[in-house]
Amino acid sequence: MKYYKMFIDGKWVDSISGRSFESINPGTGEVHAIVAEAGTEDVEYAVKTARQAFENGPWARMDPSERGRLLYKVALKMREKAEFLAEVESADNGLPINETKLIEIPATIDVLEFYAGMANKLSGETLASPMNRFNYTLREPLGVIGAIVPWNFPLMLTMWKVAPALAAGNTIVIKPAEQTPVSILELVKIFQEEGLPDGVINVVPGFGHTAGNALVSHPGIDKIAFTGSTRTGQLIMQSASENLKPISLELGGKSPNIIFDDANLEDAINMASFGIYFGQGQVCAAGSRIFVQDSIYDEFIERFVKKAQSIRVGNPLDSTTQMGPQVSNKQLEQIEKYVSIGIEEGANLVTGGERFTRAGDGYYFTPTVFENVTNQMTIAKEEIFGPVASIIRFSDEADALQKANETIYGLASGVWTNDLKRAHRMARGIKVGTVWINAYSFLDSGAPFGGTKQSGFGRELGVQALEMYTQTKHVWVDLNERAM
Ligand code: NAD
Repeated sequence: MKYYKMFIDGKWVDSISGRSFESINPGTGEVHAIVAEAGTEDVEYAVKTARQAFENGPWARMDPSERGRLLYKVALKMREKAEFLAEVESADNGLPINETKLIEIPATIDVLEFYAGMANKLSGETLASPMNRFNYTLREPLGVIGAIVPWNFPLMLTMWKVAPALAAGNTIVIKPAEQTPVSILELVKIFQEEGLPDGVINVVPGFGHTAGNALVSHPGIDKIAFTGSTRTGQLIMQSASENLKPISLELGGKSPNIIFDDANLEDAINMASFGIYFGQGQVCAAGSRIFVQDSIYDEFIERFVKKAQSIRVGNPLDSTTQMGPQVSNKQLEQIEKYVSIGIEEGANLVTGGERFTRAGDGYYFTPTVFENVTNQMTIAKEEIFGPVASIIRFSDEADALQKANETIYGLASGVWTNDLKRAHRMARGIKVGTVWINAYSFLDSGAPFGGTKQSGFGRELGVQALEMYTQTKHVWVDLNERAM
């Protein structure tokens, strides 16, 4: 059994309390690693170290170009170790190996390369000033960043925070999700091997109410970057308000994927399936409410159900697997609860709705389709975070828009139509952070991602993310010649 220490000040250390916890492989239900468990005192040590590295270490004196080169070296090493990272990630969180190998790991590396290139492009402005003054701004790092990440795409979502934070010159303390600490610890080994100065990245694996809470409420943290559930986001906002720390929150969703009758139906069906079943439905932007126009509704259901039934569920490390296990038994029970509620409230369960036991002892569920769903049903209102599609009818564009926006969330949306004008009208009307037109679930390192309403605030990725990791300082230079 592999034992992982935590990473603080460039060293691998046990927790001060000596405690550890188990990390389970969701594909087998077996413990695959033991990990040192951070408590308040370990977080204290990590924040102190990160502060020291930010204020006084070689990192603080490093040229932005050199910082960029260092990040780029890490990205190159990650490319060499991509297969290994994909395997570790799949064993840790259950994503099929083809999804980690072909989607998540390449996307994670791309993000690092993007921000490596941005490191020496951050600049302030010369302001319009009267003749007797010279006013300008400096774009400065914030200091010590606290990053709290979930278990669904641990490496990618960590990199969304680490790469812009480091490119801008900050230091960081990462609290991985308790379900998936291993891949993040393997990732920081690469940063260490490539020469990142001590204390710039620190990892404190542990639980939310202990390590997570200690990080959020620590007065020495300059910003909290959080991805996780809306409920935890609320707690973090409360806690961060004690020390008036800025936060960014990437939270849950109940994203609409809207299919008009003039769309390319084959593409729409394939991508609606990808939109909900990719990552076992454990995707914040999952297209979990699929809106289908009346005139194509029956045909869509028939073909979509066939597609769902054709998905090969199995061990995540098997390259023929198309959908792996849910991350934990708790998550599996949660999905079962929602399926029962869906049936009770009158939705029509067309396929799935049960555990998939043939794949072994892991936490497998069948791709599930409910039709005849309305926005008033619980399964259309609450985030299930599992492979459960809710299909809802609509009549025309106005009806689609009204129904798509009828949610507390606002993360993402898909629109399928060949009518250019309608596509852009919909893009303006839907209240979300990302609209995909004739596509779903795609990400680009250069394109901002984040939510509105109860899906959170702040934008990750793109140049926009750098605004969350820097602050503007105004310098006023008086040019008046005064008599002494
Ligand atoms: P979660 O909120 O339970 O946990 C996320 C992280 O927060 C974990 O590291 C956890 O240990 C920590 N945490 C929990 N309680 C805490 C507390 N009181 N103080 C500090 N930290 C605490 O969420 P989860 O169940 O692990 O993740 C799934 C959720 O994340 C879903 O709702 C999903 O939509 C959301 N998510 C959003 C995005 C996005 O980009 N918007 C991406 C992935 C996941």
